[in-house]
Amino acid sequence: MCYHKRMVFSCGHFSWGHEVRACNVEVAFRLGILREECDTMFSHPMHSLKLPKLCQGCAGKKTKQDGTVSTVKERLQELHQVVGKWSKKDERNEDGHKEKEAEVEFLELVKHDVSEIFKELAILSSCTPLTRVS
Ligand SMILES: [Zn+2]
Ligand SMILES: [Zn+2]
Repeated sequence: MCYHKRMVFSCGHFSWGHEVRACNVEVAFRLGILREECDTMFSHPMHSLKLPKLCQGCAGKKTKQDGTVSTVKERLQELHQVVGKWSKKDERNEDGHKEKEAEVEFLELVKHDVSEIFKELAILSSCTPLTRVS
C-alpha cells in the first residue's frame, strides 16, 4: 500500500497526487524482484488537501447547467414580454390580429424550448452528485 497525496474537491470527488511513500511491494517491483507493481493507493488525512472547488467532471457539468439555467431565464423573459404586449393590444384591430397569430406561433416555440430545457435540467441534476444548499 503506497502513500500518495490526495486532492479532495468540494463535490466529494478526489484525485491522487504525488507519491508520498512507496511500499515494499512497489519498491520490490522497481528493483525488478516482483513482476507486478503495487496498485493500492492510500492517503493519510495529513496528506489530503481539501480544495474549495469542484472536480473537473463536476465543474464541466455545472457550467453546462448554469448555461441552461440562463437560457431558461432568457426564454421566460421573452415570454413575459410577449404576454405583456398582448394585454396592451386592441384585439378588434385587424393588423393586431395577424400579429397575434405570429405571436401565438412564437409562444408555442418558446414553450417547446422551455420544456426541452427543463428536461435537460432534470437529466443534469439527476447525475450530479452535488448536494448543495442554496
Ligand atoms: Zn503500495
Ligand atoms: Zn466531482
